[in-house]
Amino acid sequence: MSHIAEDSFEQYSMGTLEDSQLAPLEEHLLVCHECQDRLKTTDEFVATMRAALHLGDPDQAAMASAVPEETTL
Ligand SMILES: [Zn+2]
Repeated sequence: MSHIAEDSFEQYSMGTLEDSQLAPLEEHLLVCHECQDRLKTTDEFVATMRAALHLGDPDQAAMASAVPEETTL
């Protein structure tokens, strides 16, 4: 049995995986510790990516307001 594709993991983590692909993926996860580890990594990656997207604007605003202070010299 082949392992789960990276794309499927990302879609699974983001909740966009089709129902027809959901069952075989979870079935494989139950028996494959390697893919359980990979899913954990993908989950963290997706969470980080989402956090970056949500915090992107405030971060840039904070950085933008910090830059002029240094450039006024
Ligand atoms: Zn696997």
